[in-house]
Amino acid sequence: MYLKKNNYSYKMDSNLSTEFLISIKEEYDREINTLNNIISIKQDRLDEINDILAAQCNHDWQTDYVDVDVERSEIIKYCKKCNLTYNTVCLAA
Ligand SMILES: [Zn+2]
Repeated sequence: MYLKKNNYSYKMDSNLSTEFLISIKEEYDREINTLNNIISIKQDRLDEINDILAAQCNHDWQTDYVDVDVERSEIIKYCKKCNLTYNTVCLAA
């Protein structure tokens, strides 16, 4: 594994100083927090959009089979336009 800081790569098993590792750790912690916040905000917006689409789209239902594993497949009903599943739309109603 390689660590990246300021566009330089450092091999993980090389002799890295504690200070350096801590600075990398802090940078990663900050980045992960920021990305988690972005995911959370976008997921909320997506949920709202899906709720609106569930009510607003003139759904065009399509039935398909999805492989659960090698031996089993499940029937799934989804809208060809908005891609929401029939179950999601029914729950949103
Ligand atoms: Zn639809």
